[in-house]
Amino acid sequence: MQFLQQIKLRNKIFLLCATLVFLTAIVIQANTWWSANRVNEKLLQEDVSKAKAILSQYLNAQASLLVTASKVLTADFGFKRAVATSDEATIQSALDNHGDRINADVMVLTDMSGRVISSSTEKMSIQTRLDDEAVARLIANPNTVMFATLDKHIYQLMLLPVRAPHIMAYTIVGFEIEQASVTELKNLTGLDISFFQDNEHLLSTSVRLERFDDFRKALAQQKSSWLIFERPAFFSEEMALTSAGNEPVSVMLVSSLAPFYKQFDETLAKNFLLSMLLAIAASLLSILFARSLTEPLKKLGGLAQDYARGQYSKSLELHAGEEVDTLASHFNEMGQQIKLREDKIRYQATHDVLTGLPNSGTVRQLLFEHFSGDTPLILVAFSIHNFRQINDRLGADIADACLQALAERLRTMNEATLFSGRLEGAEFFTVLPADPDGTQVYVVDRFLTELEHAFKVSELTIKLDLHAGVTLYPHDGIQPETMLRRTDIALDLARQNKQRIHYYEDGEDEAHMQRLAMIESLRQVILAGGNDQLFMMYQPKISLDYQEQPKMEALIRWQRDNKHFVSPELFVNLAEEASLIIDLTYWVFENVMSQLQAWHQKGYLIGAAINVSAQDLAHPEFESFVLSCSEKYQVSPSFITLELTERDIMHDEASVVVSLRSLRQAGFSVAIDDYGIGQSSLSKLKGLPVDEIKLDKSFIMNLQQSPKDQLIVCSTIELAHGLGFLVVAEGVENEASLTLLKQMRCDYIQGYYISRPLAAEAVVPWQRDYVNENNLSPS
Ligand code: C2E
Ligand code: MG
Ligand code: MG
Repeated sequence: MQFLQQIKLRNKIFLLCATLVFLTAIVIQANTWWSANRVNEKLLQEDVSKAKAILSQYLNAQASLLVTASKVLTADFGFKRAVATSDEATIQSALDNHGDRINADVMVLTDMSGRVISSSTEKMSIQTRLDDEAVARLIANPNTVMFATLDKHIYQLMLLPVRAPHIMAYTIVGFEIEQASVTELKNLTGLDISFFQDNEHLLSTSVRLERFDDFRKALAQQKSSWLIFERPAFFSEEMALTSAGNEPVSVMLVSSLAPFYKQFDETLAKNFLLSMLLAIAASLLSILFARSLTEPLKKLGGLAQDYARGQYSKSLELHAGEEVDTLASHFNEMGQQIKLREDKIRYQATHDVLTGLPNSGTVRQLLFEHFSGDTPLILVAFSIHNFRQINDRLGADIADACLQALAERLRTMNEATLFSGRLEGAEFFTVLPADPDGTQVYVVDRFLTELEHAFKVSELTIKLDLHAGVTLYPHDGIQPETMLRRTDIALDLARQNKQRIHYYEDGEDEAHMQRLAMIESLRQVILAGGNDQLFMMYQPKISLDYQEQPKMEALIRWQRDNKHFVSPELFVNLAEEASLIIDLTYWVFENVMSQLQAWHQKGYLIGAAINVSAQDLAHPEFESFVLSCSEKYQVSPSFITLELTERDIMHDEASVVVSLRSLRQAGFSVAIDDYGIGQSSLSKLKGLPVDEIKLDKSFIMNLQQSPKDQLIVCSTIELAHGLGFLVVAEGVENEASLTLLKQMRCDYIQGYYISRPLAAEAVVPWQRDYVNENNLSPS
C-alpha cells in the first residue's frame, strides 16, 4: 500500500489501464484457448465417429460378401455330395473355385468336431490351423462374422454348416485384412487404423513409426512441442471386434493432432498479436489520458504554491474538461478571496481600527523608510491632556469621535506632514519635514496650533489640550527604535513638567532608563512587603497654643538596596506614574496603623497624618481598605488625617471628592497638603470635604525675610479661618517663623525647628518630653 502511495498519479493511471488491458487480454486468450480446445475435441470426436462408421460399413460389406460366398458354397450340390462322399479332390476344387471367385483368403472345410478336412490354402492347411477354441466358437456362432488371428495376420471369418440335409460338415470362409485394406481404410476414414491382438500385439497398421515393438508406448511418446511445452501428437480411440479366438481383437483409430494444433496455434498467435497491439494502444492512450489529467493538476498545484508565496494576482485558464475547469475557476476565486482577506488582515494589523491611522508597528516601519538619507526630520509625539476628562464627562462615544476627528485633521494636513499614526490611547505620532532655516520651534508650534483648533463633535465644540514631545532627526538619533523612545520620553517630560512642547535633550534617555530601573526595583520591594528597605519616619505637628497632643506625619523612606536613600518625592512620583502607588499606600497604611496600635496599647494615644494620592482615592477598593485597616488594628479614624495635595484635589475627578467625603464622614480628617503652590483660590475649596490647610513650606522657610510671603501667609490664614479651615504651616525652621506664625494666628506648625522626622522608636520619648515640657495631661 505504501508502495502505491509513492507512485505518481500519472503512473498510477497508466498502470491501471495497462493492467486492465493485460488482464482482459489474458482472459480473452484463456477463453479462446478453452473454446478452441472444446471445438477441436468436438471435431476430433466427430472425425472419430465418422471413421468408426466407415470402418464398420467396410467390415460389414466384407462380411456380407462372406455370407453370400458361404451360402453359395454350401448350397452347391456337387460340393455337398463331395462332402458326403468325402471326395477330397472335388472338395478341394470347389473350395478353390469359390475362393477364387470372391477372392477369399480362407476357404476351409471342417468336420463336425472342427477338424480341418480340406483347405483352399496350402498355407492354411499346412502351417496354420485355427485353434480348437476358435473353431468351437465359430461353430457355436454360425452365420456370424468373427475376427481371428492366424500367423500374426488378422482375418474376418464366418462359419456355415453344410447340410445334406443334416449337417455334415462346416465351411469357414474368410478374408485377410491386409496392409492394402488398412491403407484403403485410412484413405476412407482419414484416420490411421491399427489392428491389435490381445490389446498388445500389433497386427496391422497404417501408421508410420520407426519402432513398432511397443506401438502404444511409441504412439504416446510422439509429442509435438509448443513453446516450452510438449503436447501429445496423436489422439487415439479403440474399438473391440468380435473375436473368434481366446485373445481379444481390436481396432485403433488414430488421428494426428497436428492440423488441430496448427489451427489452434494460429488462432492463439493472432489473438496474442491483437492483445499486444491492444495493450500498446491502451498504454499510449492511458499515457495521454494520464497526462491530460495530471498536467492541469500540476498547474493547479503551481497556482497553489504561488498563492502560498502570496502571489494572489495569478490565475489559471484551463481547458481540461468541465470538472477541472470548474476547479480552476474555484482556485482563481479562492486566490482573490484570500487576497481580499489578507489585505484586510494586513490593514487591520498595520492600522488603528478606530482612526484608520497607521499603528505603532507601522509607524516604526515608516520611520525605517524615512530614515534613509540625511534629510532632517521633526518627530512629534503628542497626547491629549484633557482626554480623560472628555471620556469621563462626555462619554466614550464622544471621546472616540474626538480621536477620529483629530485623525481626520491629521489626514487633511498631509501636505505639511510626512505621515501620522496613533501610538496608543490618546497618543499620536507625526513626522514633519524640518525647516531648512532651522526654525523647528516655529514648525512644531504651527502644527500643534492647527491641531488645537476647536473640533465640532456631535454638536459639541471641543478644544483639545495637547502636550508634545519632539526629537530631531538625525540630531537626536538615527535608529527608528531609539528615536521613537526618545520622542516618547520627551512627551512624558512635557506631561510631567506641564509643558506644551518638550524638545528632547541629551541624557534624558539615560535618565528615563534609570527611572525605569528604579520603578522595577521599587515594584520588587513593594511585592516583597518592604523587604527591610522601606520604613516610616514620623514628624510631629504641634498646635501653637501647645494645648493639644501633637500628631505625627508619617513619611516614608526607601533605602534602596540598603545603601542610598531615595527621595520620597522622586519615588512616590514614580510609583504614581507606574500605577504602583496604591500598593505603596496599602503598605504605608498597614505599617502606620500597626505602629499606632502598638503605641495605643502602651497608652500613648498618638495620631498620625498619612499622605495619599488622587490615584489612591480614585481606586474603587481604597475606602473599604482604609476602613477595614482601622478595624483590624483597632485605631479609630479620629486618630488619622489624610493628606492630599492641592493639585490632586483640584485637578482630579469627582470620584476623589466622593471618596474623600465618605471617609471624612467615617471620622477621618482631611488636610490639603502643599497649599499655595497650586495657585488655586481658597474659595474653590469651599464646599470640599476639608478640615485643614497645610501651607507649603516654600512660603514658610524664609518667612521672616520675605514680606511678600508674610502677606500671602497672613491673608491665607485669615481667609482659611473665615472658611472654617484649620491652618498648618510646614517647614518651620526657626523661631522667627514660629513667632510670626503665632502672630498670624496659625493653628499648627511642623518643621525642623520643632523636630526633624523621627524614627518610630524615638516618637514616644519625644512625645513624653513634649507633654512634660508643656505640662499637658498625658494621653
Ligand atoms: P509633604 O507631605 O509635604 O511632607 C513634608 C516634607 O517636608 C517632608 O519631606 C519633610 O521631611 C519636609 N519637611 C518638614 N519640615 C521641614 C523643614 O522645616 N524644612 C524642610 N526643608 N523640609 C521640611 P519628605 O519626607 O522628603 O517628603 C517629601 C514628600 O514626599 C512629602 O511631602 C509627601 O508629599 C511625599 N511623601 C512622603 N511620605 C509619603 C507617603 O507615605 N505617601 C505619600 N503618598 N507621599 C509621601
Ligand atoms: Mg504631607
Ligand atoms: Mg507638604
